[in-house]
Amino acid sequence: MNDLSLATIQHFINGRIVPSAGGRCQDVFNPATGDVSGRVALASVDEVDSAVAAASAAAPAWANTAPLKRARILFKFKDLMERNQDALAAAITHEHGKVFSDAKGEVTRGLEIVEFACGIPQLLKTQHTDNIGGGIDNWQLRQPLGVTVGITPFNFPVMVPLWMAPMAIATGNSFILKPSERDPSPSLLLADLFKQAGLPDGVFNVVQGDKVAVDALLQHSEVKAVSFVGSTPIAEYIYTEGARRKGAYPLRVQALGGAKNHLVVMPDANLELAVDALIGAAYGSAGERCMAISVAVAVGSVADKLVEALIPRVRALKLGNGMESESEMGPLVTAAHRQKVEAYIDDGVRAGAQLLVDGRGATVAGHERGFFLAGSLFDGVQPQMKIYREEIFGPVLCVVRVPDFAAAVALINTHEFGNGVALFTSDGHTAREFSRRVEVGMVGINVPIPVPMAWHSFGGWKRSLFGDTHAYGEEGIRFYTRYKSVMQRWPETISKGAEFTMPVAQ
Ligand code: NAD
Repeated sequence: MNDLSLATIQHFINGRIVPSAGGRCQDVFNPATGDVSGRVALASVDEVDSAVAAASAAAPAWANTAPLKRARILFKFKDLMERNQDALAAAITHEHGKVFSDAKGEVTRGLEIVEFACGIPQLLKTQHTDNIGGGIDNWQLRQPLGVTVGITPFNFPVMVPLWMAPMAIATGNSFILKPSERDPSPSLLLADLFKQAGLPDGVFNVVQGDKVAVDALLQHSEVKAVSFVGSTPIAEYIYTEGARRKGAYPLRVQALGGAKNHLVVMPDANLELAVDALIGAAYGSAGERCMAISVAVAVGSVADKLVEALIPRVRALKLGNGMESESEMGPLVTAAHRQKVEAYIDDGVRAGAQLLVDGRGATVAGHERGFFLAGSLFDGVQPQMKIYREEIFGPVLCVVRVPDFAAAVALINTHEFGNGVALFTSDGHTAREFSRRVEVGMVGINVPIPVPMAWHSFGGWKRSLFGDTHAYGEEGIRFYTRYKSVMQRWPETISKGAEFTMPVAQ
């Protein structure tokens, strides 16, 4: 693979890197050092047009390529990804900041979607009814849409694009990725691997950019579907703009938004397991995961014990450069994001929550300009506080105390977000009731981060997802295809004249 670490980060259109036509650019940082590591091009409307033209030209031949042939290219892509897993993970750590082992885990979760998509000949098989009556057979097709688009967030620069691209491509569409401008380089590594795998030019394209590129993609009449993952305000914007677009073919949109994930600890839970789960799920990847746990709901008598056990563990978290193996938590993605998270901590203190561990002002020796923030822990958090209501997206865990199970469920169901949730208990009945009653899209019972496997589908409820289908799995196949029913008859004799009554089975 090319060394892209210091290059200007450009677009990838029609099978090649396309230098920006001298337009706008933005700095990209190594968050561990605070240094500028590159500059990313921000596409103009003309550059978006040329990506759509390439994707549009490639779409018909790709749609006509046999699913087995598409799968063979995805098999090669999977093999190349495995061989380049370390390079992909290093590129993630370089621009995102998460620790290298976590970045490798991200690549693995992306690979699993590729593995699922390799089964596309089987996945596209549909149902057939022989002889519905009168010598007619009826079956269905799932056909590709044409040009599809993925707009992705900074926190999983490999995994989230791979929730989309393998599904779109396997089902016979062409695809344009608009990655986050904060960590854009991994997208070009993926493009390079697709090219090496033999994917025809124009089937996978990357347009770097910001709102200008997103708006141009949303308005383009050749774009048939947009899959978005990011914060709730932008998800809602994408969904509304998509629905508003006029044209012969309405834009299909799925827009996954933000989160505030609760982990409920029941008095009968194994406390050690619950504490381990909370530490990993709240502070892993510095809390910059849409499935991060940001609220611990302590039920009844467990609260004091839970908080006492959490305090030393949060203080002991090893902050450091993600490329150093002893680091448990890397920096935040940018200085601006760190400032935003610190402002939430200030707000929590002002609102009267007890800040038991304060992560502000932390530095890492040798990396004094890095965007580090140590773990913070609040107790006594109330539902009306901003630190409870809003997504912080940093290493901050809020403990909310509730009297009983019913209050825990009511608290969660009242929150506007419904992405992930977890319950720690040793009682099967409580677990069953919880998973049935809770209004959240992904539920973990004694599992802190219940991200569904590739053949199940991913998505939240309420203001965590706008649209009807969840991402990847069978829902992904549906999102990237159109359903068509075919009825066929080969008459054995000559015409008997037109029929004017509704056709019914004979
Ligand atoms: P973001 O919403 O700021 O950006 C996401 C994408 O939208 C980026 O590609 C960005 O360039 C683009 N964008 C930003 N502002 C825009 C605007 N005004 N108009 C049009 N496009 C715009 O999100 P982020 O900060 O990169 O990522 C973190 C967020 O993503 C968190 O809220 C997190 O919960 C969410 N997220 C959700 C999921 C999920 O599955 N629900 C998964 C990962 C991340």
